[in-house]
Amino acid sequence: MSSEIRAIVAEEQDGKVKGRLKTLSTSDLGDGNVLVEVAYSTVNYKDGLAVTGKGKICRRTPLVCGIDLAGTVLSSEDPAWKAGDRVLVNGYGLSEDQHGGYAQQQRVNGAFLVRVPEKFSFHDAMAIGTAGYTAMLCVHAVQDHGIRPDHGPVLVTGAAGGVGSVSILLLKRLGYQVAAVTGRPELADYLTGLGADAIIERAELARDSKPLEKERWAAAVDSVGASTLATVLAQTRQEGVVAACGLAGGVSLPSTVMPFILRGITLRGIDSVQCAMAHRVRAWHDLATLLDSAALAQSTVTEPLARVPALAEEILAGKVKGRVVIDVNA
Ligand code: NDP
Repeated sequence: MSSEIRAIVAEEQDGKVKGRLKTLSTSDLGDGNVLVEVAYSTVNYKDGLAVTGKGKICRRTPLVCGIDLAGTVLSSEDPAWKAGDRVLVNGYGLSEDQHGGYAQQQRVNGAFLVRVPEKFSFHDAMAIGTAGYTAMLCVHAVQDHGIRPDHGPVLVTGAAGGVGSVSILLLKRLGYQVAAVTGRPELADYLTGLGADAIIERAELARDSKPLEKERWAAAVDSVGASTLATVLAQTRQEGVVAACGLAGGVSLPSTVMPFILRGITLRGIDSVQCAMAHRVRAWHDLATLLDSAALAQSTVTEPLARVPALAEEILAGKVKGRVVIDVNA
């Protein structure tokens, strides 16, 4: 039996694909084999691109937006899941070619689901969301490269954003010295509250860099790209690693081979969308070990579904601090 639900749906409007609040029938949902009652979703940078239509994220229309969700399984044709299971999804094409999390219910492929760690409420899970899970993948890249806290400071760019804020929390919990790069110096207290030991002005890095500069960072988590990433590479210490996940500052990479051939730097790409399930499970396990509701509360606000279009504009304008959880039932 179908019922009505509210959702943010991307449709073509005046030649542009944009998301807006609509009422749908549950029969309009995806054809996944698990029906989930969604509790929360979030606003990530990519959601901003999708809902405003400023990035070509939604590859078909109409499509429910929202790249992540957390909620309860209502029914399942996948034997791995049963009614009552607490689940989440990050990426896997949600809001690209699959209906996403900005809806009160969603049908998803059982193979996309991760069990919400017992310690976390649905709200906690989405306070982390795709940005926080990506931050954990970046931190794993740093750890797996053998970088230990005594090797030197780790740089986090786009620090006051979602990936940046959770990266600072995680690195601090693991004992690293953290330097935070921000274009919003007025948020210095927020960043030091999360665990940043030093605040660096965005303009110090978002500039033309030399092929090699003074060695400063044992490792870096970069969600900005472009000239910032090039400067980070030029300043990373011998044998260091830079985990690159984002493009908030642009898609270019105006660098040279010098950091790679003269300092043995590793540039490690992070893709949260098609990341293998084993890495996702490891990430969520470690997130549950390192974070709790109190830590997450510092960087999280909760907003109703109807606010998503406005928040999508705000995140692209660099005005969102930390994480925004969306209560799809409010
Ligand atoms: P947010 O908007 O929350 O954070 C981005 C931060 O980048 C901003 O808060 C701001 O930090 C900084 N920033 C914004 N504009 C610029 C600019 N023009 N130049 C330099 N810095 C800028 O986004 P998210 O944390 O959700 O995502 C961050 C990036 O990571 C995005 O590009 C996103 O697409 C990408 N991403 C990639 C994933 C993957 O799988 N590879 C998964 C998740 C995210 P401040 O104000 O402190 O300077």
